Amino acid sequence: MVSDFIVIGAGIVGLSTALRLLKEGASVTLLERHEAGREASWAGGGILSPLCPWNYPDTVNRLVTFSMSLYPEWIAALSTATEIDPEYHVCGLLVLPPYDLDKAVSWCTAHAAPLIYQPFPLSPSHDHAQQQTDQALLLPDIAQVRNPCLSQALYKRVKQLGGNIIEHCEVQKLDTTRQEIRSVRTPHKTFSANRYILSAGAWSKQILGEHALNIEIKPIRGQILLYKFPERPLHSVVLQQGLYLIPRCDGHLLVGSTIEDIGFDKGITPEAKDKLSGWAKQLLPELRGMSPLKHWSGLRPGTPDNIPVIGAHPFLKNLYINSGHFRYGVTMAPGSAEILTNEIMKRAQPFDTTPYQQGWNLFG
Ligand SMILES: Cc1cc2nc3c(=O)[nH]c(=O)nc-3n(C[C@H](O)[C@H](O)[C@H](O)COP(=O)(O)OP(=O)(O)OC[C@H]3O[C@@H](n4cnc5c(N)ncnc54)[C@H](O)[C@@H]3O)c2cc1C
Repeated sequence: MVSDFIVIGAGIVGLSTALRLLKEGASVTLLERHEAGREASWAGGGILSPLCPWNYPDTVNRLVTFSMSLYPEWIAALSTATEIDPEYHVCGLLVLPPYDLDKAVSWCTAHAAPLIYQPFPLSPSHDHAQQQTDQALLLPDIAQVRNPCLSQALYKRVKQLGGNIIEHCEVQKLDTTRQEIRSVRTPHKTFSANRYILSAGAWSKQILGEHALNIEIKPIRGQILLYKFPERPLHSVVLQQGLYLIPRCDGHLLVGSTIEDIGFDKGITPEAKDKLSGWAKQLLPELRGMSPLKHWSGLRPGTPDNIPVIGAHPFLKNLYINSGHFRYGVTMAPGSAEILTNEIMKRAQPFDTTPYQQGWNLFG
């Protein structure tokens, strides 16, 4: 049987898109090269906000705000149906100095985002030689989710609703005819559907091949360290100049992350380990006698200004894309699935979504 949709790539973005279409009553097949949810969607941190939202364009923040308005209900429905808890909770984001106070305050005022001044350093045992007297800024409304659990819940829900997830099935070629996709080729079989959605993260441009036009999606590596405390060592996510600590409910602490433009290389490096652990130990002296339990990396689907590409291909009429979410694909997943579905179903959008269709950069 030919599905209504084939979704290529089963990360958080592909799974969310499949789920949204299944809820419309469509039949959906997901083709995943390896295992679902094991690439960037597993490796990421799960902070549900841009790091310092005032440093991002409105196009990013508008999609984030919309997506975050969907998150609580989306997660509640997923947890109830699957009995998997993705640990979504509002924990706040504590921004440590240095930061641009004027920019932060004016952005928060304009967006009615609460902002609370907090004492800094974090703990009384903080090294006196390192003490700074500036204040930290707490954005109390920011939430986090445990992204590997979110992927598992999405995977289970997609299957519960009849989605067909085929793993270890790499799409190698898009077969086209008369300005549309006729089928997709994998090593063992050719698959056909009425419509195709590309959500293969950092690999999306490769799959498009000659149909990529001037799209700019490239892998940007991020490395993370994982520690374990007997109890949660912090309440909020802590951010300082692009590096962050993410406390999970069970005492795990993530320290991230690097931003490395080095192609499709998922290696880990001693330099990154030293940089991340050195910074974290300055802030949390309790870490000084501890070694990380794990060190990993993932490839973000990097795009200019962190603006994803969501919508129809300009020339292949049954091909859509939902990719290029760069640093915020976990945050943007439900919102991106919603606006892509609106476009496919020819429904009104909640806001102007044309900026997400400009990633094809037709005029080079
Ligand atoms: C270190 C790090 C920290 C991060 N922190 C955060 C954060 O705090 N908050 C946040 O919102 N985001 C964060 N992100 C970003 C977020 O993880 C990504 O934006 C998001 O996971 C992208 O999801 P995706 O589904 O598009 O891509 P992926 O999760 O990479 O999924 C793409 C899928 O496509 C599959 N695929 C590739 N090629 C093919 C093919 N030819 N055929 C079939 N399948 C294929 C892959 O195997 C993969 O499963 C972070 C990322 C990293 C690496």
